[in-house]
Amino acid sequence: MSDVVRIIPLGGLGQIGNNLCVIEQGERRILIDCGLSFPRDEMPGVDLVLPDFAYLRDAPGGIDAVVLTHGHEDHIGALPYVMREIGVREVWGTRLTLGMVKSKLDEHGLLRDAEFIEIDSDGDPVACGPFAAEFARVTHSVPDAVAVALHTTEGTILRLGSDGVDLMLADSTNAERPGITQSEQLVAAALKRIIRDAPGRVIVTSFSSHIHRLQGVIDASEACGRKVAVVGRSMIKNLNIARNLGYADVEEGTLVKPSDLDELRDNEITVLCTGSQGEPMSALTRMAYSDHRQVQIRQGDTVIMSAKPVPGNELAVHDTMNALCRRGARVLHQDNEAVHVSGHGSAEELKMMLALVHPKAFMPVHGELRMLAAHAALAESVGVPTGRIYVCDNGDVLVLERGSVRREGMVEAGVVFVDGLGIGDPKDAVLRDRRQLSADGTLIIVCQLHRGPSRVEPEVIARGFAPEGADAADELLDEVRAHASTILDRLDADGVREHKLLQSHLHDELAELVWNRARKRPLVLPVVVDV
Ligand SMILES: [Zn+2]
Ligand SMILES: [Zn+2]
Repeated sequence: MSDVVRIIPLGGLGQIGNNLCVIEQGERRILIDCGLSFPRDEMPGVDLVLPDFAYLRDAPGGIDAVVLTHGHEDHIGALPYVMREIGVREVWGTRLTLGMVKSKLDEHGLLRDAEFIEIDSDGDPVACGPFAAEFARVTHSVPDAVAVALHTTEGTILRLGSDGVDLMLADSTNAERPGITQSEQLVAAALKRIIRDAPGRVIVTSFSSHIHRLQGVIDASEACGRKVAVVGRSMIKNLNIARNLGYADVEEGTLVKPSDLDELRDNEITVLCTGSQGEPMSALTRMAYSDHRQVQIRQGDTVIMSAKPVPGNELAVHDTMNALCRRGARVLHQDNEAVHVSGHGSAEELKMMLALVHPKAFMPVHGELRMLAAHAALAESVGVPTGRIYVCDNGDVLVLERGSVRREGMVEAGVVFVDGLGIGDPKDAVLRDRRQLSADGTLIIVCQLHRGPSRVEPEVIARGFAPEGADAADELLDEVRAHASTILDRLDADGVREHKLLQSHLHDELAELVWNRARKRPLVLPVVVDV
């Protein structure tokens, strides 16, 4: 008798990003992907968001292997953190994926902490942890992506082909989009035409890992005699990795330094840069706001946004586009030119895949809940029985035993935040304070405790706190000051001199006063000092 196989998604369900699925048998386990996500607006000051690894931390036997399907951050970004915190014996990926992941691990000083195993997508099944793994090449918005099939003693998980699949897991990102996703060739043709016909400089931004797209821009530029300047750290890094490993082809003399652009005519210039998501410190955003040392946007420039805003980034991207227009650039994007196609299959393609694989059970993954639900409906429409479609949350456990799948409880799952160098809890008081600060500002009340008759009046400092009207604000601050004084007198009479206690009284009563008067909840910060 062998143990059952447990499938435990710890991230990627009900969210875009954090893709991480544990597949284990007994005390041996592998991870399929190990990704991160980026903070949303309600997480001020947070740099990165990771899946919660609590389950892995406590799991006996550790992690045999992490299998990376491709090199996007939502699939590889959490690996350094899992390696540092828990340890991983083997990291599996295709050549380009390993190239990208090694450069990331190098930055974290973790290059020697695991064995790297290059995936061969044409080979026979190979032992990976307690399973036999087989790989099939798939098309995506980064080269060298693979689907993974795991043969286990209890059945086969997401095997593509005809020998029967007991459980299939598939990407749901575009499950709500009808039809099929257009070909990358369409974009290449549009880029060729636009770059050739542009009267002045062309500035193109895209995802820095979208090597095919970067190649399309380079090809189009070479075809009409333009030089290409690459701007932005991740764009330079990924293009270098891709060239070194033979995934990108650039003619001798095509690339120029941004500082050499002055020597060229405008219609001999293409700039390839980061910033497709409107990231504040990225090259394009800085160019748009005249904050870039080497490239300034000016009348006659054509800017191509060869990417789609990731959900949540729309406002930042639109701000950047508006700033570009203000500087006189012509801005082309997916709504007015064929300059972008998705890297994810749409509904008809997902249906076709389900029909071809014909899995006995199905779990939609990689998407917000509405996308998972749409994917489940597609599976149902091509004949997967409703009772065998598992729309799960992160932490839900599926068990595969002798070819059949069932739900069996759940494990701890969620997200943790990376903030500077520390990793913290999402319910952290720090985050609550930041939210409060950003909404209602802060009130600092400095009180001096004199051990004598002459007391200095408390001082009130307001930042980001603005009750209706300037006069009202001054009046309220005066009232806060007077009330603080009264509180101190009262406590003094009661013999209360302990700072913590004084501060807590001041905080509660002043916060209540401000709420009653102004219906605002600034962060009230009493500071008591002895003099
Ligand atoms: Zn991806
Ligand atoms: Zn992804």
